Amino acid sequence: MSTKKVVVNQDTCIGCNTCTLIDPDTFELNQTTFKAQVKKQPETIGQATQSAVDCCPVGAISIVDE
Ligand code: SF4
Repeated sequence: MSTKKVVVNQDTCIGCNTCTLIDPDTFELNQTTFKAQVKKQPETIGQATQSAVDCCPVGAISIVDE
C-alpha cells in the first residue's frame, strides 16, 4: 500500500494564505519566506486537505505517492 504525502511547491506558492485557513492542521505559513509549508503530514488525505489542494489559486499543492 502506498502512502500519500502533501507537498507545497515553494517556487509556485504566492503565500495567499488560503490553504492555511482551509486546513490549518496541515499547512502553515513560513514566517520568513511567507510561503506555505506542511506543518504536519496528515495520516490520510481528508476533505480539508483535498479542499486546500483544489482551492490553491496557483496549483502549488500536490499529493504524491511517498
Ligand atoms: S493556497 Fe497555494 S498559493 Fe496560497 S499559500 Fe497555500 S500553497 Fe501557497
